[in-house]
Amino acid sequence: MTTAPIARVALFGNPLGHSVSPAMHHAAAAATGTALRYELWPLPADELAGAVETVRGDAWLGANVTLPHKPAMLALVDDVSARARRIGAINTLYKRNGRLLGENTDAPAFMRCLRLQLGFEPANERVVILGAGGAARAAVVALGEAGVRSMALWNRSADRAAALAAALEGAGATLRVVPSGALDRWLPEATLLVNATSVGLDGSSLPIEHPLVGAQGLRVFDMVYGLEGTPLVRHALGQGLVAVDGLWMLVRQAAAAFALWTGVEPPEAVMHAAALRALAARSDAQRQGSGQ
Ligand code: NAP
Repeated sequence: MTTAPIARVALFGNPLGHSVSPAMHHAAAAATGTALRYELWPLPADELAGAVETVRGDAWLGANVTLPHKPAMLALVDDVSARARRIGAINTLYKRNGRLLGENTDAPAFMRCLRLQLGFEPANERVVILGAGGAARAAVVALGEAGVRSMALWNRSADRAAALAAALEGAGATLRVVPSGALDRWLPEATLLVNATSVGLDGSSLPIEHPLVGAQGLRVFDMVYGLEGTPLVRHALGQGLVAVDGLWMLVRQAAAAFALWTGVEPPEAVMHAAALRALAARSDAQRQGSGQ
């Protein structure tokens, strides 16, 4: 009897901590009968080019890429999708006809979540986006392509927000960089608030001081995710707003990467369940580590 060789995929990032990606991809592989091993490769920047050469080998289907290496990947692959180039970040490497290609699956995963979980149709809507890192860039490009009317962008470091706006000028919608004081004016008129900062990862901090009172038509999408939602999602739900965290976005960007590697659409519900189990195990380990 012969068995199919195990195809390999790596996640490049630094640090990688307790990533839930191996759990999601191994669950997808088991559910689809795919022989796949997903490995964590924490790498400093000066080892990235060597790692990319390794995944060009026959045993490899490709890789995922996370902080801080997503922008650097643009220079290391044979070609890049138009969307990934526009965002300036690659989160998935895959192969076609012997070439190593770069894609950004965060942006389409984000849009699918807005539509499926929030019932949000972007055309002509007003959006407030918090953050100016890679996640915010993916949100701005995706929402611009989808035809929103206006985007107000706030970031802790205003110069970084201005740089993002300059880089994405002509994204298809009006993109205004606003100071935090202006959010009082923008939020009541907005129909979507996106948190693309990392605030909330600690389980207690809110990214903005605005209480979200009186923002009745607002839907809230937090890219941060956690076992029990996030501080922003809990706060928004408490104000009677519709709000979701980024766990399904994580699942959907992973499912899109899995499909690029294998040609098989994986069951997202199976990947979501695996992500929840991995988050619960991580939370248990942290509690035991802190002696609670
Ligand atoms: P990044 O490039 O490092 O950007 C981080 C952003 O968070 C910056 O805008 C930064 O502001 C802001 N920030 C950090 N600490 C802050 C604080 N204490 N107060 C206010 N703002 C703060 O990271 P990224 O790739 O954009 O990711 C951002 C978040 O989105 C992360 O939590 C990541 O896990 C999440 N994400 C989730 C998914 C998903 O699938 N759900 C996908 C991508 C990203 P400054 O510019 O002022 O430093």
